[in-house]
Order: sequence, then C-alpha cells, then structure tokens
Amino acid sequence: MHQEKVCPNCDKWTSTSSSLCSYCGKELFEKERLTREALDAQPDPFKMPLIKIYSKDGYLIVFGKRIIQFVQLVFFGIISLLIWIASLLPG
Ligand SMILES: [Zn+2]
Repeated sequence: MHQEKVCPNCDKWTSTSSSLCSYCGKELFEKERLTREALDAQPDPFKMPLIKIYSKDGYLIVFGKRIIQFVQLVFFGIISLLIWIASLLPG
C-alpha cells in the first residue's frame, strides 16, 4: 500500500515507505518517535515491587502486609488513572 505524508521539515508530500523524507532527508516520524520514547522512559508503576510476604512471617504481620499490598495496588491504580486522564487532555 502506497502512503504519503507531509514532511514536517519541507512541507512536501513524500512516501512513507522510507522513514526519511525523500526531498530533505529529515526524519518523518520524529515527533511520533520522541513521543514513544518519552512514554517508554516513564517508569511503569506496576513494575514497582510489592511488599514481600515471607512464610516465616506471623499471622498478624502477613495480615498487615496484605493491607499494605492492597494500599499499594490502589495507589498504583490511581496513579495510572491520572496518567491516563493526563494523556487524554489536549496539549
Ligand atoms: Zn522534507
């Protein structure tokens, strides 16, 4: 499929079969690439380690740690929701 895109540098229609403008050689998807890299650079809140529960922990300690894990999950959920809302806002 042949697709064309306006080069952000020289405003000429150029084929997207190459990632570089065939007129000026400028990267056509620089903005998209930078956006993707900025997203990749953000730490994933779900990769943050949850508090560990060990088998030697007492019943009350395990109970307390489960509450902390629950708070952590809710906290991460709120953060990811805020990131999601922020990504929907224009600008
Ligand atoms: Zn160009």
